[in-house]
Amino acid sequence: MSRVYNFSAGPAVLPEEVLKEAAEEMLDYKGTGMSVMEMSHRSKAYETIIKEAEADLRELMKIPDNYRVLFLQGGASQQFAMIPMNLMKNKVADYIVTGQWAKKAYQEACLYGKANKIASSEDKTFSYIPDCSDLPVSEDADYVYICENNTIYGTKFKELPNTKGKTLVADVSSCFLSEPVDVTKYGVIYGGVQKNIGPAGVVIVIIREDLITEDVLPGTPTMLKYKTHADADSLYNTPPAYGIYICGKVFKWLKKMGGLSVIKERNEKKAKLLYDYLDESKLFKGTVEKKDRSLMNVPFVTGSDELDAKFVKEAKAAGFENLKGHRTVGGMRASIYNAMPLEGVEALVAFMKKFEEENL
Ligand SMILES: *Cc1c(COP(=O)(O)O)cnc(C)c1O
Repeated sequence: MSRVYNFSAGPAVLPEEVLKEAAEEMLDYKGTGMSVMEMSHRSKAYETIIKEAEADLRELMKIPDNYRVLFLQGGASQQFAMIPMNLMKNKVADYIVTGQWAKKAYQEACLYGKANKIASSEDKTFSYIPDCSDLPVSEDADYVYICENNTIYGTKFKELPNTKGKTLVADVSSCFLSEPVDVTKYGVIYGGVQKNIGPAGVVIVIIREDLITEDVLPGTPTMLKYKTHADADSLYNTPPAYGIYICGKVFKWLKKMGGLSVIKERNEKKAKLLYDYLDESKLFKGTVEKKDRSLMNVPFVTGSDELDAKFVKEAKAAGFENLKGHRTVGGMRASIYNAMPLEGVEALVAFMKKFEEENL
């Protein structure tokens, strides 16, 4: 068996320790004689799994008691609709469009009410985060929406927007648990877990209790109401049970590593290694404004499509997988999520240096 260094943007690398543990428990989970995949979601064993997952996540993110944690399905994309359906009481919401995911969320919200694009960085192919300190926030906006880390373009909000008192809703799919956060600054934090936490199929929604009401847009399906899932502790119907079990293991792994402050330091060290090299390289260069650089997704180019393709091909042959940039931007992108070890980034930079020498 040999494992590659997997730089995929998602589904993405998971901690090897977690995968090994899951493999050991595959046929017989803790003496139950069955896999977690085969287990009733109403069983005692599963109740412990989901309760512990929530408790560990709460501890890691220091989630206050007036926030609920929901484990849902439908991917991050389903939240693009659930958010307006549940929160657009005045049928008005403000969107900051910093990439394709924010744009999709904005377009979806337009189906349900008046969605205002109050800032955008589309003029420069989403290569920066606009100044959000004094935006024209709508007086009757039900919330202000951001995508906090832009997976495709590699930018991140280093400072949250000034929402002028309005509820902040954030898609954190690609920066979930990458650093400490102050949950109280948000009304809703949500993300698909397949970027930085677990297998595809689970989306985690952290939502302030007062935002969970029966007062939703008419016609909102039962399954798309936050209240349905909050009232049932995420067990209204069969949850993505195996996925939640793996997420729980990743939470324990993060706790064992020392929690989110330690993870942040580790992520900064990894990202610095790559960005420092990009800044000094004569062949490769980063594509986004330095001040807005993501710790998780690092896009870069050579300036030649031919050389980019050659690099991706030779990198793959050397055991560095999924370095091709998103189909809409080209070039390369290295996603260096929590589970990417420092050695993976060191090896990548060494490989890039060698490629530079050979091709300059
Ligand atoms: C991947 C991604 C999405 C889409 O996730 P799905 O689970 O495939 O719907 C949304 N937002 C961000 C920031 C992402 O990285």
